[in-house]
Amino acid sequence: MHADIPTDAGPAPRHPTRQVRIGTVALGGGAPVVVQSMTNTDTADVKATAQQVAALWRAGSELVRITVNTPEAAAAVPRIRERLDMQGVPVPLIGDFHYNGHQLLAGEPACAEALAKYRINPGNVGFGKKKDAQFAQLIELACRHGKPVRIGANWGSLDQALAARLMDENARRAQPWEAGQVLREALIRSALESAARAEELGLPRERIVLSAKVSGVQELIAVYRELARRGDYALHLGLTEAGIGSKGIVASSAALAVLLQEGIGDTIRVSLTPAPGESRTQEVVVAQELLQSLGLRAFTPMVTACPGCGRTTSTFFQELAQRVQAHVRAKMPEWKQQYPGAETLTLAVMGCVVNGPGESRHAHIGISLPGTGEAPAAPVFIDGEKATTLRGERIAEEFLGIIDGYVARRFARR
Ligand code: SF4
Repeated sequence: MHADIPTDAGPAPRHPTRQVRIGTVALGGGAPVVVQSMTNTDTADVKATAQQVAALWRAGSELVRITVNTPEAAAAVPRIRERLDMQGVPVPLIGDFHYNGHQLLAGEPACAEALAKYRINPGNVGFGKKKDAQFAQLIELACRHGKPVRIGANWGSLDQALAARLMDENARRAQPWEAGQVLREALIRSALESAARAEELGLPRERIVLSAKVSGVQELIAVYRELARRGDYALHLGLTEAGIGSKGIVASSAALAVLLQEGIGDTIRVSLTPAPGESRTQEVVVAQELLQSLGLRAFTPMVTACPGCGRTTSTFFQELAQRVQAHVRAKMPEWKQQYPGAETLTLAVMGCVVNGPGESRHAHIGISLPGTGEAPAAPVFIDGEKATTLRGERIAEEFLGIIDGYVARRFARR
C-alpha cells in the first residue's frame, strides 16, 4: 500500500484579519505581507535619521519605525517627515514609544500628526496606578489624530502585574501549567486585553495591530498560533532580539517561515543586530528574501546558484553568481518603473555540467559554467532552450547583457 503523495505546494490560506491602513500602506485583510524595519539613529538627529529612513525605504522597507523617547526626538519627527517628503521618500513613519509616549504625543501635536502609526508596549506604558491612565491617554491621542496603534507586547518587558496574576491563577489549578506556558499566556493576554481596552476607549479594531514578541523560535510560533486563533487583529510578526549575523537570519527565518506558511502574519520585521559598520538595510533584504523564497511576494529577481564542489575549477563561478545578484538588485529600482513584473525573473548560475543545464532550463535565464575537465565554454539557456554559448574573458559582461536584453523584451510595458 502506497501512502498518498502530496501534490499541492504553497502556503495555507491567509488567516483572516481586519485591514489596517498605515498612511498609504494596507496591512492585513488579505493585503500582501508588508516589510518593515527600524532605524538605529538618534531620532533627535534629523539629518542622520532621515538619511537612514531613506536608505531603508530604498532597500524596500514599506514602513519604517523610529524611536521617540525624548522631547527632542518628538520635536524632530515633523522635521524628519518634511525632509523625507522633500526628497520624494513617501514611506510612512511609525513612532516607537515607551514610558513617556502619552506626554510626548500630547506635548508635540506636530509629531502626533506626522507619524502614521504609534507603537506602544503594554508592559511599559506606565507603572502601578498610572498605567491604566497613561494607556487611556495614548489611545485617546491616537483616536484624536486618527492614527492606528500597534500594541506590541514583549517577552523582555512583560506586564509584571498580569504575569503575577496568572502565576497565582496557575497555582490554584489542579494541574498547574509549566512556567513557560504561564508566561506565554501572560504575553498573549497582555496583547489581547490591551487591545480590548483600546476598543472600549474608542479605537476601532481596524486601527489596531498586535504583536507579542519573544526571542525563542518555538515560543514565538506557539504564541502567534494562539494569537491568531483567538482573534482577527492584524498581526505584526517578528522574533525579538534575533541576534547577529547568520544566527539572527536563521532564527528569524525559521520562526517566521513556519507562521507565514500557516497563513499567519500581515507584516514582518527581521530584528538583526548589524555587525559594526554593516548597513542597517540588511534586515530589509532578509525580510524580502524570506517572503520571496516562500512564494508570498516578489521583490527582485532571484539567482539560483549551486554550492560549488570539487568539480568547480576557480572562484569565477562564485564571483559570477554574486555579480549577477548584485546587478539585478541594483537594476531593480529602474526596472520597477520601466518593466513591471521584472521582479519575477528567475536566474541560474551553475558550476558544471552535472546539474548546470538541467537547473538552467528551469530558470528564465541560466548559465552552466565549465567544471573540471570540461571545455572552456558556458552554454546559456533562455526559457528552457539553449540560446548561445559564451567563451573567453567577457563571459560575465556578456551574460549581464543577455539578462538586461531579456528584461527589456519580456517585461516592456505594452
Ligand atoms: S552543479 Fe556541478 S559544480 Fe555545482 S555542485 Fe553540482 S556537481 Fe558541483
